[in-house]
Amino acid sequence: MTKINLTDLNFEQLEKEITFLNEPLYRAEQIFTSVHKKNVKSINEITAIPASLKEKLGRNYFILNLINAKITDSANSVTRKFLFETDSADSGQKNFIESVLISEKGRETVCISTQSGCNVGCEFCATGKMGFKKNLSVSEIISQIYEVKKLSGKNPSNIVYMGMGEPFLNYDNMLNSLKILTHPSGFGLSSKRITVSTVGFMGKIKKFADDLTSPENSSIKNVKLALSLHSTNNGFREKIIPTSAKNTLQEIYKEISYFYQKTKNKVTYEYIYFEDLNDTDNDVKRIARLLRMVPSNLNIIPFHKIDFELQKPLDAFNNKQDTKKLLSNKKLFDFIDKLKNEKVIVNLRSSSGSDINAACGQLSVDQQRIQNSL
Ligand code: SF4
Repeated sequence: MTKINLTDLNFEQLEKEITFLNEPLYRAEQIFTSVHKKNVKSINEITAIPASLKEKLGRNYFILNLINAKITDSANSVTRKFLFETDSADSGQKNFIESVLISEKGRETVCISTQSGCNVGCEFCATGKMGFKKNLSVSEIISQIYEVKKLSGKNPSNIVYMGMGEPFLNYDNMLNSLKILTHPSGFGLSSKRITVSTVGFMGKIKKFADDLTSPENSSIKNVKLALSLHSTNNGFREKIIPTSAKNTLQEIYKEISYFYQKTKNKVTYEYIYFEDLNDTDNDVKRIARLLRMVPSNLNIIPFHKIDFELQKPLDAFNNKQDTKKLLSNKKLFDFIDKLKNEKVIVNLRSSSGSDINAACGQLSVDQQRIQNSL
């Protein structure tokens, strides 16, 4: 019989296992708290249960640990990047993922991955360029937070699903990870402090809204949604986000509207700034119209250089990109002013971490090179 990873189980699933083992139900809470609040590394470390139960569990269950491969610090000490090796027991093949800790404005935000690599292939994204390796298990998703907490000594205050991979293409594991992180006996984080980001897939945003508002999922009801928008023009968006050809803005907007009507959770739009490509007056008008649709805000993100060749129309940006220059770019601030004049709530995101390839769009691992260097 294949052993079950205890870290993969949400509370209800763990209760079923405990029932199956003919143990009293309160044992489920003791084990769940040990794994997700105390972050024990093995069944033997669960002090709340007797030795006989540890032995019983040890026969059919285990606790997965991510292997920390490398930590890199940004020069300004705001951002730390963590490289993890995922458990290779299932496939016999090593896979690597990255997570980022941003310590800023009194917050400890952990940006986590849901996949190793990604097959969406966004033109501006290093993860997309490395191709798809695997979907992360529930435990591989949440263990990033537990490991970052342990390695940094910082208590995560906010979680963003904006690392490697598209969360909505690993939907069930993403949803289960949210349930564990917000369970009062688990990690216990308020769902208001969690944001899940997607490029948008038809049916998935609607399903997410339904799942957040389902009565048995009350702990996750306030999870926020971020849409990687980057353009309000279907033609340009298709060039930089290939899957948007089948997931048009009109369809995505309908689902965003449904999401807000159902959850009443504000929506964030992420918008990488590409000078002269997505900053025209028509863009301003379309963005303003979109942001009037439901309560929302726009995060403008500087484009961060990646170590891959880019196709048109983004090819020029990788060569001339200089974050410091960009942040003093008059055109960018004119664009922001025009949006503000249209009453758009707009934030310019910092480029912290770009010096260690930890900023938005830069996460990527060369698996072969890492394996050779470890
Ligand atoms: S931006 Fe997100 S969806 Fe697009 S390639 Fe990168 S990780 Fe995948």
